[in-house]
Amino acid sequence: MAIAGQSALEELTQIIPATMQAAVYRGVNDVRIETVPVPKIGHGEILVRVHTCGICGTDLKKIATGSHSAPRIFGHETSGMVAAVGEGVEDFKPGDRVVVFHHIPCGECYYCRHKTFAQCETYKKVGCTAGFEPSGGGFAEYVRVMDWIVRAGTVRIPDAVSYEQACFLEPVNTCLKGIERLAVEPGETVLVIGQGPIGIILGALAKRAGATVITSDLHAQRLKISKELLSVSTIEASSYDVVSEMRKATEGRGGDAAILAVGGNSLIKTAMDAVRPGGRVMLFAQTVRGEAAIDPAAVCVDEKTLLGSYSASVELQDESVRFVMEREMDLERLISHRFSLGNGLEGLELAVHPQPDSMKIVIQPGLSWNEL
Ligand SMILES: [Zn+2]
Ligand SMILES: [Zn+2]
Repeated sequence: MAIAGQSALEELTQIIPATMQAAVYRGVNDVRIETVPVPKIGHGEILVRVHTCGICGTDLKKIATGSHSAPRIFGHETSGMVAAVGEGVEDFKPGDRVVVFHHIPCGECYYCRHKTFAQCETYKKVGCTAGFEPSGGGFAEYVRVMDWIVRAGTVRIPDAVSYEQACFLEPVNTCLKGIERLAVEPGETVLVIGQGPIGIILGALAKRAGATVITSDLHAQRLKISKELLSVSTIEASSYDVVSEMRKATEGRGGDAAILAVGGNSLIKTAMDAVRPGGRVMLFAQTVRGEAAIDPAAVCVDEKTLLGSYSASVELQDESVRFVMEREMDLERLISHRFSLGNGLEGLELAVHPQPDSMKIVIQPGLSWNEL
């Protein structure tokens, strides 16, 4: 590293202020930019200065539904630089560029032994916090990473990879888990409904698994990006019937599998109709509890499978790291909007009301210190 880089590095890691800015969740649809204490770290823990944190649909859901108590600081797609390390930390030092997972399973309980990691009690315990009840903390200038996350959920970012690319690690892992659960086989035709950033990553991973991928969305602008990044056929759902287009593309059968990468329940029927008898439908964005109409005979008589996937899998961590850090996909291109922490509320607002031209929206507390 150059001398200039060294002094900038010192500045970033050695002067840790007493207070910082953070986007604090104060209640339903109430997030405020506040000054809060920089979290203290203990034995085995590290303090990370946040550069970039992606806004995830689950953050928005928590803010809009009040499913979690207030106050909290959300944000879990966090990349940044190690600013301080606690006693006993040997694997990291100040200046290391890292991305942190916000929860990691114990590996030993009933659910872990049955590979249902998202149900593990340790997994449900969030290990990154910027203060208050641990909730990720990425929407703040500094985040405290607890010891079990330091040991198993902190990943180094190679020099040639940007913080922006790296912050996709957790979303890529969740998508990879979805593709694994769907058991996509080479030669299959897979429909991905919804071409926001997650739908596009799912499309890329289905393609990587050997499938012929077809994507659909209501917005032509999203399909344009989908086409550019994935080189796949697309269906503009505002002008064409997705089910009949899928049948046309598959000798009248329907796809082998479909993935719903857009929230709401109204498209479940479309997805079920768009797959062949014996086909599979994955609900990837249906995170709100409620009821949905499903044709039971589609499951019984037509032997279609309805399945879901949620959150990340620790077993797919190495593969996700390879995909992101070896730049198998240029994930930065999925970022359409970048907000400073001070303008973070605007970013959340845009994420709640996505526009045809908005894709991944990130908050960048590190916008001012930038890449070294
Ligand atoms: Zn997420
Ligand atoms: Zn467990």
